[in-house]
Amino acid sequence: MDLITQAPRGTQDVLPDSSHKWQYVEQTALAIARDFGFREIRTPVFEHTNLFQRSVGETTDVVQKEMYTFEDKGGRSITLRPEGTAGAARAVLEHGLLSGALPVKVSYVTSCYRYEKSQKGRYREFHQFGVECFGASAPQADAETISLAMQILSALGLKGVALHINSIGCPTCRAKYYAALKEYFASHVEELCGTCQGRLERNPMRILDCKSPVCHGIAADAPVMLDYLCEDCAAHFEAVKSCLSAAEIPYVLDPHIVRGLDYYTRTVFELVSEDGLVVAGGGRYDGLVEELGGAPQPGLGFGMGIERLLMVMEQTEAPFPPAPACDLYLVSMGQAAAQKCFALATSLREGGTAVECDIVGRSLKAQMKYADKLGARFTIVVGDNELETGLAQLKDMTTGETEEVSLGDLYTVLRQKLLDRELADMTDLFGSIAEFQ
Ligand SMILES: [Zn+2]
Ligand SMILES: [Zn+2]
Repeated sequence: MDLITQAPRGTQDVLPDSSHKWQYVEQTALAIARDFGFREIRTPVFEHTNLFQRSVGETTDVVQKEMYTFEDKGGRSITLRPEGTAGAARAVLEHGLLSGALPVKVSYVTSCYRYEKSQKGRYREFHQFGVECFGASAPQADAETISLAMQILSALGLKGVALHINSIGCPTCRAKYYAALKEYFASHVEELCGTCQGRLERNPMRILDCKSPVCHGIAADAPVMLDYLCEDCAAHFEAVKSCLSAAEIPYVLDPHIVRGLDYYTRTVFELVSEDGLVVAGGGRYDGLVEELGGAPQPGLGFGMGIERLLMVMEQTEAPFPPAPACDLYLVSMGQAAAQKCFALATSLREGGTAVECDIVGRSLKAQMKYADKLGARFTIVVGDNELETGLAQLKDMTTGETEEVSLGDLYTVLRQKLLDRELADMTDLFGSIAEFQ
């Protein structure tokens, strides 16, 4: 009972004071993705459990330990999505988008759910911005997707982000690699943790991801996939790298990126902050569509954790736009003035300005105090005198300057002042982002 006013462990509320930061990150990402031809897709929070078993992979930690799975009242096994790609792939397949014009490029902002040990920056409900591109196998597609992720982070003023890339090949070359990995880890089997001993037969690549320091140490000297790429995969990876170089996108070759999900093939990449936090990750998954029962179709994409991104932005003091504020607070004295203010507020709001007036029945002083707390940009006091003359003092709350305006012209005057202010704010934001980079 006492848990009623406490959010479940691993979840967090986004309060009105910070929601504009979320909106800023999400809208920036979606808008830049739109410039790259990605249009938004929205899929359900829950899907049939076997969708994730098939796509994410039976042997992954996500499927084995972390999913929120339950039986619904109709006896179906349902799972809250642990990631964004499977649902997007299911939707484009179900609606036949892959038989239309290719490539199909989609973007999304979604909540995801994983039952993980909760720790700082890791939540059981978390949010992701992601994109998926279906039907493009050329290396240019890999480079384009990577450059989209980079552009979003740069537009958000994140500096010092490094691009790490790797290729994990195709099923053909991976078979040889698995054999080499098995042989290597088998010679250390006694030292591996219990989980990894189990992984040795089913999926030795998972051992590379193990968080146990002992396994991690052993994995550091394991054979790397890059040495086992088949001719096609090697040529594809070379072409991705030269595309990146041609666009002057710097990268670090990192043979240790394997990504935790089964569906990845060939290019995988991570964007790593100065502090070593992965703020975005993704890659190619050429076998996924077929795995889900569609005609073979290549695909690739990435996901960006919004909580982590915001955390890194705060830590590095990346600039955020100012919180939306009340443009004008109408302070009223007396019954007649209160009515006039309400009428004024109504028409000013129709004109698209953020206006508030007293709805509590407070004194002049209390209204002024409230306007100040709200951070109102302008205030105007309306009493019997102003009603009679139709003139009032518009006060700029930042500078303290006042100006006499006719109540009839209030909209035009206010609009102009707000535009000037907005322009100055935008110049400031762009200036500080540019300075930041
Ligand atoms: Zn290959
Ligand atoms: Zn292990």
